[in-house]
Amino acid sequence: MADGIAPALPELMDQHGRRKRKLRLSVTDRCNLRCAYCMPEHPTWLPRGDLLTIEELLRLTALFVMHLGITNVRLTGGEPTLRRGLPELIEGLQLLRPQGLQRISMTSNGTRLAELAPALKAAGLDDLNISIDARDPALFQKLTRGPIEPVLEGIAAAQTAGLPFKLNAVVIRDYNDSEIEALAGWAFEQDVELRFIEFMPLDNAQQWSRERVVTESEILQRLGTRFGAVEKLPRTASPATEYILGGHHRLGIITTVSDPFCGSCDRVRMTAVGELFACLFSAKGTQLRDALRAGEPDAALLAMIRGGVWSKEAGFAAPRGYVERPITMHRLGG
Ligand code: SAM
Ligand code: SF4
Ligand code: SF4
Repeated sequence: MADGIAPALPELMDQHGRRKRKLRLSVTDRCNLRCAYCMPEHPTWLPRGDLLTIEELLRLTALFVMHLGITNVRLTGGEPTLRRGLPELIEGLQLLRPQGLQRISMTSNGTRLAELAPALKAAGLDDLNISIDARDPALFQKLTRGPIEPVLEGIAAAQTAGLPFKLNAVVIRDYNDSEIEALAGWAFEQDVELRFIEFMPLDNAQQWSRERVVTESEILQRLGTRFGAVEKLPRTASPATEYILGGHHRLGIITTVSDPFCGSCDRVRMTAVGELFACLFSAKGTQLRDALRAGEPDAALLAMIRGGVWSKEAGFAAPRGYVERPITMHRLGG
C-alpha cells in the first residue's frame, strides 16, 4: 500500500505499513536551560493562548488511545516540568488506562524533579528519561547555560520517589565527546542505564555536520577500551540498541544517523500547539488545534490524524543530510 487515502482502521498506520503505538506529546516550548544544539540563544516563546489547554491535550490524546490504538504516551517539551498543571494532566491520562493506555513516560532535563518527583509519581507517571550531556559541572554549565546541581538533585529525587529512569546524553564532537567515558563510568557506578544519542540533523541554527556526529561504532570502540568486552543484546521495540559492557554494565545507543531504525518506527509527535508531526524529519505538520477549537466532531479530527500519519515519509533512513524544517527541537520535543 502506498500513497492514496488513509484507511479508517482502528490502528494508526502509515503508507509504509508501520503501525503507530507511541505518541510523544510536547506540553510546552519553554525551557529553563539553553542547550546550544537545541535552542536558539534568544528563543521567542509561543503565546500561552496558542498552547493546547490541559483539557484539549486530554481530548486529543483520548482520540489517539480510544480510536487509534496508541498505547504509550511520552510527555516532553521544551521542558515538560515547566508546564503548569502537569500532575493534573497525568491524572487525566490515568483515566485512559482502561481504554488501552499502557504507559505514561516523560523526558525531562531533571532540573525541577527535586520539587516535583513525588507529585508526578503520585499522579501516576510510570517512568522518566533524564537528559544529562556532561558530568563535569563546568562543561555542563557551558553546554546548557545552567548549573548541574539541580539535575543531580532531580535524579536523586526520582530515585527516592521510586520513579524508574534512564539517562540520555547526546554526543557531539568537540562539544561533549570528551565526556563519553566519564558519563558511562558514573552511570555504571550508580547502576543506572545510560543511552548515548547520535547527534541528529535537526537544529535550525545549522550546527549539524556529519563530522560532528560521533557514531555508535566510535562510542563502542572507546568504551570497550575503557570498560572491556562489548556484547550486543537482541533489539527490542526501544529506539536504543542495547549492550553489556565488561560483563555487567548495561548501555544503550540511539543510532538515528549511523544505523537508522525507521523501518520499524512506531512513533508520532504532537507539539504544544497541537500540530501533529508524523516523523522527526517531517517538513510539515497537521494542525489539529484549530479544528478542535472550531468544534469539529471526533470523526473529522480522526480523519485528519489518519491522513497526517498515512503520508509519513520513510524517515531519515531514506538517506538525507541536513533537513531544513520550520520547527526546532525545543518545539518538537525530541
Ligand atoms: N527538555 C527535555 C530534555 O532535555 O530532556 C525534553 C525535550 S529535549 C528536546 C528531548 C531530547 O532531545 C533531549 O535529550 C535532547 O538532548 C535531545 N535532542 C535535542 N536536539 C537533538 C539533536 N539535534 N540530536 C539528538 N538529540 C537531540
Ligand atoms: Fe531545554 Fe531539553 Fe532543549 Fe536542553 S535539550 S534546551 S533542556 S528542551
Ligand atoms: Fe521514525 Fe522519522 Fe525517527 Fe525514522 S527519522 S525513526 S521514521 S521519527
